[in-house]
Amino acid sequence: MYIDLAGIRKAKGGRVEVHLQLEPAEPFRYAGTEAVFASPIDFNAEMVNTGAGIHASIHASGALTLNCDRCLVSYDWPFTIDYQELYLTPEEAVKMPPEGDSETRHVVASEPRVDPMEGLREALIVVLPMKNLCSEGCKGLCAICGGNLNERVCNCSHEEVDPRLEVLKTLLGKME
Ligand SMILES: [Zn+2]
Ligand SMILES: [Zn+2]
Repeated sequence: MYIDLAGIRKAKGGRVEVHLQLEPAEPFRYAGTEAVFASPIDFNAEMVNTGAGIHASIHASGALTLNCDRCLVSYDWPFTIDYQELYLTPEEAVKMPPEGDSETRHVVASEPRVDPMEGLREALIVVLPMKNLCSEGCKGLCAICGGNLNERVCNCSHEEVDPRLEVLKTLLGKME
């Protein structure tokens, strides 16, 4: 789905409010993993022709399905984000000072229409956690049997051997 900006592109001060429900889009990759949209996305934007380009204030909400890094089970990650974008034609981009507002992403659109998913994906990548966890206290998988420790306690021995103690034992053994 595209947003047509031809109407407000014509004159400075042109303004449009956009309220869309976007269908779940294609999954996207980030940090070596895949994020899948779990539901339609509520997309609300106010777009204003500032004369230097079209400035958009966007408020979007929805949910992604992510895979837990510890137990590998998929879970929903609801999001609500606000972000700003600036849509520039190539001619406007040339005139734009290189040091722009840090909150603003510059999307160069030579056609008078933009794909709202493009900026949304970029904005999500910024806020997505570095580590995906289904819950803070996720116990992960048993290193021995592979069982999900959130679901059941297995009978595997989880005694951890401290390698420093092993060295000490060996030394003591030699002294005897
Ligand atoms: Zn987990
Ligand atoms: Zn086990």
